[in-house]
Parts: sequence; structure tokens; C-alpha cells
Amino acid sequence: MKIAMIGTGYVGLVSGVCFSDFGHEVICVDKDPRKVEMLTNGEVPIYEPGLQALMARNVAAGRLAFTGDLKAAVNGAEAVFIAVGTPTRRGDGHADLTYVMAAAEEIGRALTGYAVIVTKSTVPVGTNAAVRAAIEAAASEADFDVASNPEFLREGAAIDDFMRPDRVVVGVTSERAKKVMGEIYRPLFLRDFPILYTDLETAEMIKYAANAFLATKITFINEVARLCERVGADVKQVSKGIGLDGRIGNKFLHAGPGYGGSCFPKDTSALARIGQDHAAPMQIVETVIKVNEEVKRRMVEKVLDLLDGSANGKTVAVLGVTFKPNTDDMRDAPALTIVPALVGGGAKVRVVDPQGRREGEHLLPGVSWMDDAYAAAKDADVVVLLTEWNEFRALDLARLAGAMATARMADLRNIYSPKDAEAAGFVAYTGVGR
Ligand code: NAD
Repeated sequence: MKIAMIGTGYVGLVSGVCFSDFGHEVICVDKDPRKVEMLTNGEVPIYEPGLQALMARNVAAGRLAFTGDLKAAVNGAEAVFIAVGTPTRRGDGHADLTYVMAAAEEIGRALTGYAVIVTKSTVPVGTNAAVRAAIEAAASEADFDVASNPEFLREGAAIDDFMRPDRVVVGVTSERAKKVMGEIYRPLFLRDFPILYTDLETAEMIKYAANAFLATKITFINEVARLCERVGADVKQVSKGIGLDGRIGNKFLHAGPGYGGSCFPKDTSALARIGQDHAAPMQIVETVIKVNEEVKRRMVEKVLDLLDGSANGKTVAVLGVTFKPNTDDMRDAPALTIVPALVGGGAKVRVVDPQGRREGEHLLPGVSWMDDAYAAAKDADVVVLLTEWNEFRALDLARLAGAMATARMADLRNIYSPKDAEAAGFVAYTGVGR
């Protein structure tokens, strides 16, 4: 199967590489010449564990190539995937479909024979119909179908998620398109991973409903965490106690500094707007968005409380700024709320992150970047553990405390415990919800 993948970001690149590993012939297209040049030289523009090796293997096997030339890539492809960004549109919270629609028009102009145009980007209900209309407008003679194939991979575990998905969702309107999509995902189907065929609108809705549900689960436990603090309960044990109930499940029940990342904030916001537009307000989702903002602000208050109310002149060591471990992605990370608030409050902020510096340097002005946690903590007034990278999960707490001016810790991922911290010499420790 010949596949063209439009967009080589976190989703497009991982999908393209994995499809080539299935044995398909894949050409990945990006309009960013810098990315195409890096990829052609065997470099991966993003940090995603395992991606570089898998990419190299499939390039060497002659199944995977990169180009900036969309027309050449689409020529002869049986499936063309759109995996471009759908960020929040400035001003109104809607998904910005500029890139998707521009790609659709370009694909329309490039089509030579029958192809299935597959939207992998997360898009509001009705977008696949609009993609079809845009292609028809660009090429009235074109022979094609559209399909919706939302992606559920998680950054940091993207390859495993793609290769071993809980399910694959495919929205189609013709048997011909269904057959092409079935052929593409056959290697997964053979290994019994469920493929769910739906209509276009249902597939589009599944993606938003899934992300909004997960964001709700996180926000729910974050709200429970605040109450735990007030009443003297421990949210870690509450999570365990409710998560062992099979109807609830233990995933996405870790209290922390609020959700962030490239998907949950923009997708909850888009779903809320879709609900308003259709006079079916998504009231729970609207509340989740509001509460999550409050959760992030509450984290700033936690740090200030540890600093006796003011960050002015204090040295703060922040461990981790990416929105989660094992990615370099900083989009909508809680750090982007918390760190500027501390800098604005007069703190000298030092930051350590194994992969966040390249993105973070532009996004977090006024901080100093350090190489490791102990150097960052030297003579600091407080350590703020913000992203649970492995290297921050087994810190020598006594060494850390010993290096600080005053040993205080805001453990916003509940990695350590008040007891561990006290035993190591910390004079103050705060977690989330305990
Ligand atoms: P991204 O911003 O990392 O990558 C998008 C890429 O598309 C960029 O490299 C850009 O240059 C390229 N592009 C834009 N227009 C183009 C065009 N006309 N031709 C060729 N290339 C073009 O985005 P991402 O994080 O990979 O997300 C892509 C989509 O997948 C979004 O809709 C997102 O919501 C969805 N999604 C993302 C994740 C995730 O974890 N990042 C997970 C599931 C779904």
C-alpha cells in the first residue's frame, strides 16, 4: 500500500514511521523545509523514545522517505493522511482548521487516481464533510473518498500506543474506503486489536469525547485533592481506593498541577465551543476547563506558602517543565502558568529538564537553565517538582536538602512523602492532596 502522510509532527511522523514498519510504502510530507532537511538526514525533529531507530530501520529498508513536495507524494498514493496541527483559534476557543483545509485543497489539486483522504488530525464534527467539499472544489473530476481516523497515541509512549492500540477508530462512508483502511491496519487487525468502523461524524466525536473524559477524570481527582487537604485525607490512597473499582479504573487518577499538553486544553476548549454552537452546552467540560485553570494557579499559591507568602528575591529550583515526562513538548504545560508567576513575583528561577530546554528557552524568559537537580538546588530556597521525569523520581533527598539555603519542597507530582522529606532534612514539604 502506498501512503502519503501530510505533516510530520508528533502524530504524522510516528504514524508514518509505524505504517512503514507495517510494510507499507510511506512518503511523509512537511511544508517546513527545516524539518524535511533534518528527516532526510536521519535526524528526528522531536523527542520521542524509540522513534529514531524505527525511522532509520524503515528508511534503510526503502519503505520510508521524506519530502516537501506534496504533489509528488500524493501522486500514486492509495491513501493520503492529513496529520497537520489543529490548534486553538485565537480569540474564540474553536479548533483552527486553516492547516487542515489548506492541506485538503492542495491534495485535491494533486490527486491523480482513486485515493482515500484520511483525516488523522483531531477535528470538529463536520470537518471531514468540509474536507470532501474542498477537494471537490479543487478537483471536480477527482475520484476519492474521505475517512476519519482520529489518533489516540500519547507522546512519550507514542510508538507502543500506535503498535498496540486499545482500539482503532475509522469513520467511512463507502465499502471501497473501508477496504483500503482495513488493508492499512491489517497487521493490527491480525493481532486482534479492535477496529471500530463508524460514520464520519461519530469518529470525529469519539476523539473529542475521549479527550474530554480523560481531562474530566484528571480534574475530578485534582478537585478531590483540594478537599483532601482541607479534611486531612490522603488523595494518593483515595485514588487507589476508588481506582481499584473496575468501573472507575486506576488510570488518570493522579492528583497533580493540572492537565496540559498539546491536546487536552485545546480539545476541551473546542468541544465546549461545538456544544455552544449546537445549543447543547457541554457544561461538565466547561467546568473542567475552569477548574483546571484554578488548579494551576493553586500550585503557585502552594509554592508561595512555602516561601512565607512572597517569592521576591528567593531562589526557586524547578525540576521538569515539559507537560509530562519523555517528551520535549511544552504546549500548554502547567509550567507555562507556574514559572512566569514565580518570575513575576521576583523569584530567581532555575530550571532543569532533560528535554524541555530547546522549546522552553523561548517560552520561559528570565529563568536560568541548569544541568541537574543538585546544581539547581544549590543555595535555593525551595525545590518545585513539576514533571515526574525518571531522573527526578529517585533523587538523593538528603543531598538535595543539604545543598539548599532552606530545604523546602513543593512536590506537585506526589513522588515523595512528607515522611521521606522530613527524614532527609527538609524543613517544609507540600504535596498535592495530602
Ligand atoms: P504538530 O504541530 O507537531 O505537527 C504538525 C505538522 O504539520 C508540522 O510539522 C507542520 O509544519 C505540518 N504542516 C502543516 N500544514 C502542512 C501542509 N499543508 N503540508 C505539509 N505539512 C504541513 O502537530 P501534532 O502534535 O502532530 O498534532 C497533529 C494533529 O494530531 C492535531 O490535530 C492534534 O490534535 C492531533 N493529535 C495529537 C496528539 C499528540 O499527542 N500530539 C495525539 C493525538 C492527536
